[in-house]
Amino acid sequence: MAKIIVTGAAGFIGSHLAETLLQQGEEVIGIDELNDYYDPMLKRKNVAHLHQLPGFTLIEGDMQFLDWQQLLKDVDVVYHQAAQAGVRASWGKAFRSYTERNINATQVLLEAAKDAKDLKRLVFASSSSVYGDAETLPTHEEICPQPVSPYGITKLAAEFLCELYHKNFGVPCVALRYFTVYGPKQRPDMAFNKFFKSILQDEAIPIYGDGQQTREFTFVSDIIAANLAAASAPQAVGEIFNIGGGSRVVLAEVLDTIEEIVGKKIKKNHIEKAMGDARHTAADVSKAQKFLGYQPQVSLREGLTQEWQWIKSLY
Ligand code: NAD
Repeated sequence: MAKIIVTGAAGFIGSHLAETLLQQGEEVIGIDELNDYYDPMLKRKNVAHLHQLPGFTLIEGDMQFLDWQQLLKDVDVVYHQAAQAGVRASWGKAFRSYTERNINATQVLLEAAKDAKDLKRLVFASSSSVYGDAETLPTHEEICPQPVSPYGITKLAAEFLCELYHKNFGVPCVALRYFTVYGPKQRPDMAFNKFFKSILQDEAIPIYGDGQQTREFTFVSDIIAANLAAASAPQAVGEIFNIGGGSRVVLAEVLDTIEEIVGKKIKKNHIEKAMGDARHTAADVSKAQKFLGYQPQVSLREGLTQEWQWIKSLY
């Protein structure tokens, strides 16, 4: 049995990851400050059932101020998922929460990881937003990142910190650049969650811009599989990997699929394109395929159906 830390364990992705690890019989220390970026009650709900599983502890606190030297004793793997997510909200005064939660919190963890003798892997949740409006699609890890949002800049800075601590101190970091993640427990500020909620309430769904933007959507269980592989694949240390869902889709076409899933016509409300949103994203996952054996398993239709079932169960 390995001892594992999941930061951001009460969030969307962190709670799925903690659950999978616990089901595999691992000991999991979840760390989360349950901040109010979105309703903390939702986060409590995300982890409520984990307390029933053996091996789970939740430490509630801000990563920046925890005793990491103590926490990392005997820990084999850290999955660092905690962050201030959200591209559109990262402008203006809110930026401070992005630098603190994405850059400072990561640096504090890495600083302690330098001396953590048992630590075999530190998997960092990075983001496709580091690419911005990449000219090459699908995008390969080698292209020069050019974020178009303050959020993307903080994720890129944290990635660079991981690289620095790996090169200078041998911290066994791996960075995964997730492409838009969806599925049950998706954050309420994310598109599909908003869409499904609007449909349930018979309201028009908000669409930024003309709807012709394209996205690579990744189902959450594929993200979890990539994390597990990144923690064990021998040649992953010091590397960065794109983790995508396998295809790039036009938003307008996703809406057609959603109409089929919910079985009714949906009302649309086109609103102005948001600053910080990339026009297109698409992942070249060949490196993850080669090093991690990564292969996305869940189709968009199947994944959307699962998220729709989950949203319906909430109301
Ligand atoms: P989330 O907001 O649901 O989860 C993040 C959790 O981290 C929250 O519960 C929050 O309370 C916690 N947290 C933040 N700062 C903390 C701190 N200083 N100390 C302790 N806890 C703290 O977000 P998510 O969608 O699950 O994203 C998880 C990770 O994946 C993030 O690093 C995010 O940047 C990355 N990511 C997500 C997506 C996506 O589509 N959801 C895409 C790319 C990258």
